[in-house]
Amino acid sequence: MFLKKLSNLRHTLALRLTIWYAGIFAVSSILAFTLVYALIVSVVQGRTDEDLEEDIEEFTSFMQSGGLDRVKTEIAVETQGEEASQVFFRLWSTEGRELMRSDLSSWSGLAEPRDILAKVDDADEPVLQTQTLPQQEHSVRSVYGAIAPGVVLQIGESLEDDEEFIEDLLKGFVVALTAVILLGGPIGWFMARRALRGVQEITHAATEIADGALDRRVAVRSQSDELDTLAQTFNTMLDRIQALIIGMREMTDNLAHDLRSPLGRIRASAEVTLTSGGSKTESEAMAATTTEECDRLLEMINTTLDIAEAESGAAKLKRVDIDLTDLISDAVDLFQPIADDKQVAINTDLPEHCHIHGDRQRIQRVVANLLDNALKYVPTGGRVTTKLADEGMEVKLSIMDTGIGISAEECARIFERFYRCDRSRSEQGNGLGLSLALAFVRAHGGDIAVKSNPGQGSTFTAVLPRPQHA
Ligand code: ADP
Repeated sequence: MFLKKLSNLRHTLALRLTIWYAGIFAVSSILAFTLVYALIVSVVQGRTDEDLEEDIEEFTSFMQSGGLDRVKTEIAVETQGEEASQVFFRLWSTEGRELMRSDLSSWSGLAEPRDILAKVDDADEPVLQTQTLPQQEHSVRSVYGAIAPGVVLQIGESLEDDEEFIEDLLKGFVVALTAVILLGGPIGWFMARRALRGVQEITHAATEIADGALDRRVAVRSQSDELDTLAQTFNTMLDRIQALIIGMREMTDNLAHDLRSPLGRIRASAEVTLTSGGSKTESEAMAATTTEECDRLLEMINTTLDIAEAESGAAKLKRVDIDLTDLISDAVDLFQPIADDKQVAINTDLPEHCHIHGDRQRIQRVVANLLDNALKYVPTGGRVTTKLADEGMEVKLSIMDTGIGISAEECARIFERFYRCDRSRSEQGNGLGLSLALAFVRAHGGDIAVKSNPGQGSTFTAVLPRPQHA
């Protein structure tokens, strides 16, 4: 169990991020500590060298003011008692003859500096040198400087203080660095877990949704970071999927509902004919009703399929050059008898010609559906106007009526499949006409808008874009 958990952990992004965090943390800490360490060491060494050089300057002024005697007196003062083990002095002639030395009992093994003396003679600046003595734990730093022509003073001091300080510093750094590196792991783990918490939440939500909780959404923290954008996109996607599922459910419910009544009617009339043992004429009437009902059912099913095909983009448009003015005039001629029956006037406001590249049959069905609706929902004595406006890049086809109109809430739903406003239930229809018209217009890259005032009338405007290359 534990081993399985461990092997699962090996594949987690959190662990990989932790290793990266900890690695980068360790490498940058080592770099930073090394840099600081090198800087401190160079400052400490520089300060010691500066002190030694200042001492040479001081002895030069002693030499100038009081000659060799003054220098010797000062050396004696500086190397009294304990000091003799911390600092020593030697006076040399530039030819390499030793003129004087302080107590060197603690400094056995000092090298004879003949080469350096020659260099000091040439250079204006004092020369510095570090040396290790066989019997001393710490190194010795010496400065050689000419305090008078032909006279070189060597001042040496133990680097004990400096080296102990640097050693302590190094120990402190090693402890601090180890702590920092050890802490890097847990800190990295904490940060990785924190960063991935949002991802885990989305995973949990997705799992719950996969188990059927379609209402579940991911909480969006108000930090506007990448995870928030992901959560928002995820929620939008879920809203859309849910809306689609609800739409599909409604559609199948409506389809089932709309199939049930005609099927019930067909069955009832068949049953009556069978049980009553009716005459040939009655059987023929029953067959005629059945055919009529079946035609309506078939039309409904075919329209549903046409809408689905157009919406999915599977329907290939057969684009040809169409003169919309002609197409609308023909449609108006076709509907004229119905309008006459209802005493409705159809007015047209069409340009002489209006060419568009489109699918003739589908655009004919769009115009027919809009005209059919206008005539259906306009009362006797009303008026229907068809208007075509050529706006270059697009063509606007409007069908206005002085009919019953549609409320604002219903306007938002009339393009849904099977939706019918309550007030229009008395008219024949299946609630698919507008869905089909919209699907066909959208397949052409256009759209349909509706403006309506209940009791006054409606205007449906189909906008058809003119493809650039056509
Ligand atoms: P239907 O077969 O019911 O006409 P449609 O999809 O063509 O189906 O229209 C959906 C609903 O929109 C209609 O039932 C009707 O309530 C409303 N509608 C469509 N056109 C008009 C119009 N010109 N005037 C008033 N209501 C309309």
